[in-house]
Amino acid sequence: MPEKEKIIIIGSGPAGLTAAIYASRADIGPLLFEGFQTGGMPGGQLMTTGKVENFPGFPDGVDGQELMMNMRRQAENHGCRIVTEDVSEVKCDGCPFTVVSSSGTEYESCGVIIATGATARRLPYESEKKLWGKGISACAVCDGGLPIFRNKELAVIGGGDSAVEEAAHLTRFGSKVYMIHRRDELRASKVMQERAMKHPKIEILWNKVVEEFLGDEALRGLKLKDTKTGELSELPVAGAFEAIGHIPNSEILHGCVQTDGSGYIITRPDSTATSVEGLFAAGDVQDSKYRQAVSAAGSGCMAAIEAERWLQDKGHLA
Ligand SMILES: Cc1cc2nc3c(=O)[nH]c(=O)nc-3n(C[C@H](O)[C@H](O)[C@H](O)COP(=O)(O)OP(=O)(O)OC[C@H]3O[C@@H](n4cnc5c(N)ncnc54)[C@H](O)[C@@H]3O)c2cc1C
Repeated sequence: MPEKEKIIIIGSGPAGLTAAIYASRADIGPLLFEGFQTGGMPGGQLMTTGKVENFPGFPDGVDGQELMMNMRRQAENHGCRIVTEDVSEVKCDGCPFTVVSSSGTEYESCGVIIATGATARRLPYESEKKLWGKGISACAVCDGGLPIFRNKELAVIGGGDSAVEEAAHLTRFGSKVYMIHRRDELRASKVMQERAMKHPKIEILWNKVVEEFLGDEALRGLKLKDTKTGELSELPVAGAFEAIGHIPNSEILHGCVQTDGSGYIITRPDSTATSVEGLFAAGDVQDSKYRQAVSAAGSGCMAAIEAERWLQDKGHLA
């Protein structure tokens, strides 16, 4: 027999844990799957970073892991039960939904919050792994203002709208920003292309791919290859920002809720409600625009309040 739960939360990043704090304090007794391997690690993306300088309440910044461990403790202190397992499937053909864990255990609930985040695509090089966090990042808004990037030459890898946004943001800190793009035209929208091309601090390097990240203790440059001529060159930069897309972790739903073309769960305007009643989505798995810890936490709060009201209205909390 499946275990019956009032509410199940999937994911333990800022969105899932904030939803857990709110649902626990509302006395709903949530069960949260913090994940294990799929779609990142327990605690989410901030577990992979050092200091977080833009989460409110920490004037001197806070270590990403410490922030997430504190959120977890706060959720547990209020009564949230946490399972260290991945969810392999959510069957969403009506209330109750069935949530299947990776060990094959089935749980049933009429309220489910999906907060499984998104994974940044990264270039698959050993040198990238070695220098990650030492000059390489996938988030200009998060890391662009760090002292190591100030008044330095920087690079953004990618050619879509996000790449242009990242480059434009970085012009506030770097002395110059190169955009490295594999083709001879950007994928970005026309407006964004013009923004990049007209910006005095942005230079686009066309038909170039990164072959290797250079440096030992910190990034000192990129080895580039020309996609037309095969010619190799070196570009000295102190920072490289990968803007080659994110993969939203929505595959456990097997297409049973509406998503956009990239797999981001579509939520109703000003809401975390999905196309399936009783199923809510919070954080980066439904947000291709802001992708920040505080916006993820905010939508986790919304999801818990909306789920509580929905469960109450339908008589599932009696
Ligand atoms: C290196 C780096 C630095 C960053 N720095 C900052 C910063 O300084 N400031 C800022 O605001 N933002 C920063 N961000 C962005 C921020 O981390 C994200 O916006 C935020 O973590 C999103 O929260 P989330 O809860 O939606 O998802 P995530 O943090 O991605 O968490 C998703 C969770 O879901 C779990 N999960 C996934 N699939 C499953 C499954 N099948 N079953 C069970 N669990 C699952 C994962 O284990 C994880 O716990 C940074 C991101 C990165 C990668």
